[in-house]
Amino acid sequence: DKLTSQEAIELENKYGAHNYHPLPVVLSRGEGVHVWDVEGKKYYDFLSAYSAVNQGHCHPKIVDAMTHQAKTLSLTSRAFHNDMLGKYEKYAAEYFGFDKILPMNTGAEAVETALKMCRKWGYEVKGIPENKAEIIVCENNFHGRTTTIISFSNDPVAKKNFGPYTKGFIKIEYDNLQALQEALENSNNIAGFLVEPIQGEAGVYVPSENYLAEAKKMCAEYNVLFIADEVQTGIARTGRLLATCGNCTCEDKNCSGTPEVKPDILILGKALSGGAYPVSAVLANDAIMNVIRPGNHGSTFGGNPIAAAVAMAALEVVREENLAENAYQLGIIFREELAAFAATNNLVKSVRGKGLLNAILINDTEDSSTAWDICMKLRDNGLLAKPTHGNIIRFAPPLVMTEAQLRECVAIIKKTISEFKK
Ligand code: PMP
Repeated sequence: DKLTSQEAIELENKYGAHNYHPLPVVLSRGEGVHVWDVEGKKYYDFLSAYSAVNQGHCHPKIVDAMTHQAKTLSLTSRAFHNDMLGKYEKYAAEYFGFDKILPMNTGAEAVETALKMCRKWGYEVKGIPENKAEIIVCENNFHGRTTTIISFSNDPVAKKNFGPYTKGFIKIEYDNLQALQEALENSNNIAGFLVEPIQGEAGVYVPSENYLAEAKKMCAEYNVLFIADEVQTGIARTGRLLATCGNCTCEDKNCSGTPEVKPDILILGKALSGGAYPVSAVLANDAIMNVIRPGNHGSTFGGNPIAAAVAMAALEVVREENLAENAYQLGIIFREELAAFAATNNLVKSVRGKGLLNAILINDTEDSSTAWDICMKLRDNGLLAKPTHGNIIRFAPPLVMTEAQLRECVAIIKKTISEFKK
């Protein structure tokens, strides 16, 4: 039987753990940039499952790859080889310009993988004394919510009462090269620097223009691995194949990042599968990846044939449909339009972002309900977005959006905010 939205929400509330606070809308179908609720109302998706659905909902090519593989061979575990994995690994390694890839399932899992790999490299290659390895991380980071990752989180909701925490992390201010320099100078036991090229969950915080390139250079000077968490920023989201692509042009089909910013360890998730399936990965060159040996790390589902088929199709779509270029062009229009609007509207302070990862800042406090209340009105007007804070709304539509659709969405956002009353 078909449920109403209200009934579906009641079921979740009664039988599901309360570990999320979803916007009250119950979706039952998606196609491209649109989703529909159970009553049949159509919306523009302006979150893309936190940048996982970059290729659009139910992309036919990805669905075909997935269903074909599901009917052929779904899971072997890594106890045996499968005929999809090697093909995908070659494709993805070449696509991003690394020697090797380690397949995982979720973003947090891939971050954990990168941390383990970095520590082991620190002991076996750099020669850090046993149990002394340290990894530099940034204030206001978001890398997931597993036990080790929350150990260096700033978010009290994610962290409080979940201790004791994993040791070995040094936290510095984001976008502060001097803080990085001091942390690197302070200890000989630093194995890596873990950073988001843009801090997504922190409210789409874009660092200074030269930050990543300079940070990478400093890490190289101190023989410290530069680890980029591109789970949210990667796969064309910011108008480049990767946010660490710097200023290279993604019209270059073989783009694999500029050498100045190219990470030693690259972490991908979310849109690596176009949102069709949980697929994440860690990429690195042999000198780093080869520290991982049989038994060190793994997962029953990591590198399964469906994941491999889906990710390969999802990466092909990014190239075939020029999604990085589209995100780049549409992002310019979006920020121009919203900046002009902010100049005439008291509620919107500013807009920031890159490509199609953007946020508007609202003139209110971080703990207000204003951003949430605006998102409720946007929902009523057919556009789904979610606040990162009481005064910040993130806008991250699928990258398959057309310019006409984007302009229609901009009109919805402007109208909603113009009519909004606190
Ligand atoms: N890293 C970053 C930068 C993220 O934005 C996220 C998810 N928002 C994660 C890691 C965690 O990914 P997952 O939810 O798939 O574990």
